[in-house]
Amino acid sequence: MFSKLKKALGGSDEKPKAVDQESVVITEKRENAEPAPAGSKKPRVGYIHLSGCTGDGMSLTENYDILDVVLTDMIDIVYGQTLVDLWEMPEMDLCLIEGSACLQDEHSIKELFEAREKSTLICAFGSCAVNSCFTTYARGGQQAQPKHESFVPISQLIKVDLALPGCPVGPEMIRKTIVALVEGDMTYLQPAMDIASCATACGCDLLTNIIRNGRCTGCGTCALSCQTRAINMIQGRPHKNDARCIKCGSCITMCPRNWLPEEQIKKDIGL
Ligand code: SF4
Ligand code: SF4
Repeated sequence: MFSKLKKALGGSDEKPKAVDQESVVITEKRENAEPAPAGSKKPRVGYIHLSGCTGDGMSLTENYDILDVVLTDMIDIVYGQTLVDLWEMPEMDLCLIEGSACLQDEHSIKELFEAREKSTLICAFGSCAVNSCFTTYARGGQQAQPKHESFVPISQLIKVDLALPGCPVGPEMIRKTIVALVEGDMTYLQPAMDIASCATACGCDLLTNIIRNGRCTGCGTCALSCQTRAINMIQGRPHKNDARCIKCGSCITMCPRNWLPEEQIKKDIGL
């Protein structure tokens, strides 16, 4: 499990191979999940919460129909403030990091660097971690931590391997990513790897990556996923109001045309 992703990120020149289309479309519960055989090592996963609203963690738990299988048979949660009674950070295969990094918060910064050191893979989980989302606009003065005023995407401080934007990340996106990780479905994971070092995912990316490339089907998912109602569908195409955009990246992430392999899209539109 995770081995294809580790290999792809390990500097191999070999481009990850596309897998068959059947495994790209993953919507059903993983009924036939095979428990790891006795003695085999399950991936060790950690969860760190930095500056954000906890929405991504809640979104994760909304996958209750597969979480029992994932948590019991597929992975070991080895680190997480509210999940594991352990203060020392152990070695991990994957660490999910929610929230942006506050530069005035020494504890968080130390934890972030330690996670990079101890985890083979780092996933920026949610828009605050990916591009700092609404925390970008924080100017300090908050009751609990008045001196906290500078929040940056975690990729500005450490190398990130996988990024899942969204405010919060959609439960369906989490679910599909979990299964893709388990299946080693690199075609599905590629967009999340591509935006791992991109700290600017936003509605503008819809225009450059989807609409101008002829990928948009006018489905309206982007408009529905925008929590600030910055997108209106006009004549079947999304139009963004910049004044309302908080650059959370939900729209580009939730767009179904963003998560299809390029070859498949070209085939769909007859190129
Ligand atoms: Fe177009 Fe993607 Fe928005 Fe659907 S979600 S309307 S395909 S840009
Ligand atoms: Fe987020 Fe809406 Fe801006 Fe897209 S348009 S990045 S969903 S605020």
